[in-house]
Amino acid sequence: MNIIEHYVNGKKFSGSSKRTSKVFNPATGEQTAEVRLASAKDLDDAVQVAKKAFVSWSAKPPLQRARIMFKFKELIEKNSEELTKIIVSEHGKVFEDAKGSLTRGLEVVEFACGIPQLLKGEFTENVGTDVDSWSMRQPLGVCAGITPFNFPAMVPMWMFPVAIACGNTFILKPSEKDPSCSIKLAELLSEAGLPEGVFNVVNGDKESVDAIINNKDISAVSFVGSTPIAKYIYENCAKNEKRVQALGGAKNHAVVMPDCDLDQAVNGLMGAAYGSAGERCMAQSVAVAVGDIGDKLVNSLAKKVEALKVGPGMDKKSEMGPLVTKEHLEKVRGYVDLGVKEGAKLVVDGRNLKLQGYENGYYIGGCLFDHVKKDMRIYKEEIFGPVLSVVRAKDFDEALKLVNDHEFGNGVAIFTRDGDAGRTFASKAQIGMVGINIPIPVPMAFHSFGGWKRSLFGDQHMHGPEGVRFYTKLKTITSRWPSGLRSDPEFVMPTMK
Ligand code: NAD
Repeated sequence: MNIIEHYVNGKKFSGSSKRTSKVFNPATGEQTAEVRLASAKDLDDAVQVAKKAFVSWSAKPPLQRARIMFKFKELIEKNSEELTKIIVSEHGKVFEDAKGSLTRGLEVVEFACGIPQLLKGEFTENVGTDVDSWSMRQPLGVCAGITPFNFPAMVPMWMFPVAIACGNTFILKPSEKDPSCSIKLAELLSEAGLPEGVFNVVNGDKESVDAIINNKDISAVSFVGSTPIAKYIYENCAKNEKRVQALGGAKNHAVVMPDCDLDQAVNGLMGAAYGSAGERCMAQSVAVAVGDIGDKLVNSLAKKVEALKVGPGMDKKSEMGPLVTKEHLEKVRGYVDLGVKEGAKLVVDGRNLKLQGYENGYYIGGCLFDHVKKDMRIYKEEIFGPVLSVVRAKDFDEALKLVNDHEFGNGVAIFTRDGDAGRTFASKAQIGMVGINIPIPVPMAFHSFGGWKRSLFGDQHMHGPEGVRFYTKLKTITSRWPSGLRSDPEFVMPTMK
């Protein structure tokens, strides 16, 4: 069986732990590999390598670090077909969708190529007579990233290009469900000329995550995953005096106003609810039908959900691939069973989908619920599958209240032709990322990505300007040269006279 190793100090690393976990191809249900699960010692071995590499990497001029990013960008473009196939083979999403997610990661590398400009500080001549002051941003040290299964290239790339361009060294702990993409990215970074030990991949599960939390030589942790784990990471990293940003789960609403362009809203919802089989933190899992648009919306959606082409990700005709694991498939099916029990109307039932030749793959057809109520668990909890719930609301205010009362605050969209409704919604929604006639409002790399409420614990969003702030600390220098104005000892707070 193929063993997926760690990647430390510019090469494959087996570590001492004998524990492994199985990796599957979700399209066929076949096991394709075993991935190593690191012990605390394996993790610390990688951290010590990264700590040593930090000394010379952080001293390199930002322009030299940027040049390696430029080379890395070229290599990702050259290897995009292979990287995309790796994503499809372990995650299951369809090829073009996987390619798009790689491109969104690549855009963060492009952003990081501008690091000399991004690290420029501020300067004031004469903050006092003959006294100057300036500020600079310096790297933190060894940073760690812990990432989820649903974007094996993009989410790690939200983190490490910015972190290493800022002069940090990095330990990536990818999801144990689809770890191969991270190893390929590490090899490409080495090929791009990144010095050994600057970027390392340590595979593992809870044991390695706890080792990251408890390791004294790790300065900062970026996490993306489900809310309970995000909260655990946030609390424990803070307790151990680490800087931390922990992005959690979501339940994104799309508010469909009666005046909207219905075709645009329905097409937007189809992609946002069923693309990537709903396994996106920005997936639209709730459509709020406002006023009298509910019946028309549900009828149009139902026809399209029934016609969804479900199949293996490598089949060009497939619009939606399988779910990531058998356990996840059972969980999503369980939620659909629950919705029926809770009294929601199951308009399209994808539970019994069988694909000839792929009987062991983890497929489920698109599911559509109508008349979902806010006290139902299928409304309150994140399902993370191709299940869209339609909730009816009498007016804009009731729809906005639903959005704001929900515990999650990642993304939201409104479909309307009314500029006033759109503007008021953008201003009043208690949500980190808002789309107006844009179903999945994921900020570009040069803006920053992050939710509100229980979708993000910490202060800084990811990549863009917030990413640079997260991965650097501010230093302010105040300076006077001896040849300048001399003064007697001062025993009071110096102030400008
Ligand atoms: P997960 O929380 O199960 O796993 C995320 C990471 O945490 C993995 O690396 C995993 O190995 C580790 N982990 C799992 N259980 C752990 C435990 N008990 N203790 C310590 N570490 C543990 O998430 P997932 O299933 O891989 O990904 C799906 C989730 O990620 C969804 O909730 C989705 O909304 C969320 N997500 C959020 C964003 C965002 O930007 N907010 C982006 C992508 C995914």
